[in-house]
Amino acid sequence: MLRKKIGWKFDNTYSNLSQSMLSKLTPTPVKIPKLVLFNHSLSEEIDLDFSQIDNEELALIFSGNQLPEGSESIAQAYAGHQFGHFTILGDGRALTIGEHLDKNKNRYDIQFKGSGKTPYSRNADGRAALGPMLREYIISEAMHNLGIPTTRSLAVVTTGEEVIRQSILQGAILTRVASSHIRVGTFQYALISKNKNDLTTLFDYTLKRHYPNIKKSKSQAVDLLKVVLEKQIDLICNWMRVGFIHGVMNTDNMTISGQTIDYGPCAFMDKYDPETVFSSIDHQGRYAYYNQPRIAQWNLERFAESLIPLIHNDSKVAVEIATEVLKEFPEKYKNKWLEMMKKKLGIIDYNSTDEQLIIELLSWMHQHKADYTNTFCYLMNEHKLSNEIYNEKNFLMWKKKWEDRIKLNNNPLEKSFKIMNEVNPLVIPRNHFVEEALKHATEMNNFNKVYELLKVLKNPYDNISTTSDYQSTSRQEENYVTFCGT
Ligand code: AMP
Ligand code: MG
Repeated sequence: MLRKKIGWKFDNTYSNLSQSMLSKLTPTPVKIPKLVLFNHSLSEEIDLDFSQIDNEELALIFSGNQLPEGSESIAQAYAGHQFGHFTILGDGRALTIGEHLDKNKNRYDIQFKGSGKTPYSRNADGRAALGPMLREYIISEAMHNLGIPTTRSLAVVTTGEEVIRQSILQGAILTRVASSHIRVGTFQYALISKNKNDLTTLFDYTLKRHYPNIKKSKSQAVDLLKVVLEKQIDLICNWMRVGFIHGVMNTDNMTISGQTIDYGPCAFMDKYDPETVFSSIDHQGRYAYYNQPRIAQWNLERFAESLIPLIHNDSKVAVEIATEVLKEFPEKYKNKWLEMMKKKLGIIDYNSTDEQLIIELLSWMHQHKADYTNTFCYLMNEHKLSNEIYNEKNFLMWKKKWEDRIKLNNNPLEKSFKIMNEVNPLVIPRNHFVEEALKHATEMNNFNKVYELLKVLKNPYDNISTTSDYQSTSRQEENYVTFCGT
């Protein structure tokens, strides 16, 4: 049955690492697999062709009941600092079924999330619930379409089985596509592994897979630290640009590739408030919006610690070298952030007052509880998204200053608006729309709202027929809370 040409090209390399880094096992079959979401454009992008495969067969494949030829499924071991506390972890409910190569030899981990127990599950059930899997699909695809590095979602299948959380929920499996699942926590695990070679092996593997240019360097480990630091600065600036709050930036949820991973309690901020936290368990605001760059730096410090033996034989010298690299984070981040915020305001060249202008706008937004996304939309095209708060006198004064500032650009005004259009989304996955879509899907088995939402999120920078339907902020959002359900 599965002989039909799909085009899987498995070339599994991670499974060749030492057995202390992983466990080989297959997904636990599910009772009644049913396909509920499938990402045709992603499958085409990675050169897979499911056009000859009907939904029943797709459900068999993406539930793990029928593994494709060439797959070799593994659970990866890793560790991590969760809310600052070090723990040994591992894929407790996920299995990478293999690495697929597209025609250009780009390598993708194909991973099932919710596919059953693994040696790392301990007492947990290894399964996942439908709501959180749909949530990851929606938000990760939205992030991709916003132009932000991220793991992606290929399919969601319901299992016909129940999972028990606070209540009884429908089980589901998400197929995640990632450039790899190597995390800061994977290095932390290798560092303390009983198998002394694990760290070097993982390190060489990571360079080969993600950063082959560093192979030639005389200071490979420092170069890896530097490049991961740059990637993370880029990533966090992108999150800050669209108001994304990851919610659980533990070191096991930070990738070496620079992709966003783990869509648990994440959510988008609507009213601008730097202290915004949605996660039910983040009582201290450790992962609040404004804290994300600081936490990224903290996580990179943990990454640097894992690289110490590879940086220099003398650990004191190694620490000094790593510290020098890490010290650059705040200034580098600040410059990238400024550059990004200037683009949001269509400011092209340099003026010493730019930072002040940005801060004044953010303070005004904070004070007046203005919607972060919509304020920039308003500046781009005030007729489309009108709101009485934009008649407020301080805003008008600020706006006049901003208009004078962009007139100072050595470029035509249209260029400013073009840049603003490229970085300011018209739609984001707003919490109330996401919740509504998930409610319809999980409680009424009606996926139409999910499909509609996915459609508008596919074009976040374009005004399509449904754009304006998804721009409204909700009042209920005052107490929006998210959970670590994925
Ligand atoms: P996460 O919140 O998805 O980052 O998960 C943190 C750790 O808990 C990971 O090692 C997961 O694999 C594990 N975990 C979470 N939920 C389950 C579950 N239902 N069954 C097994 N392991 C789980
Ligand atoms: Mg995780």
